Amino acid sequence: MTKRRNCPLCKKPVAQEFQSFCSRGCRDKDLLKWFGEDYSVPGEPAMIPDPEADGLD
Ligand SMILES: [Zn+2]
Repeated sequence: MTKRRNCPLCKKPVAQEFQSFCSRGCRDKDLLKWFGEDYSVPGEPAMIPDPEADGLD
């Protein structure tokens, strides 16, 4: 009944602990792929205008 799936990245048989991937490496890679493609990582704002710095010389 249990359908065996293969890792979408390297086609190895998946490991149960990694659900649909063969290893943590492939799982992470897939996650990173998704994050890299469609999500822009919020990260830190590069420049914040600081009102208090204005005019202080
Ligand atoms: Zn894999």
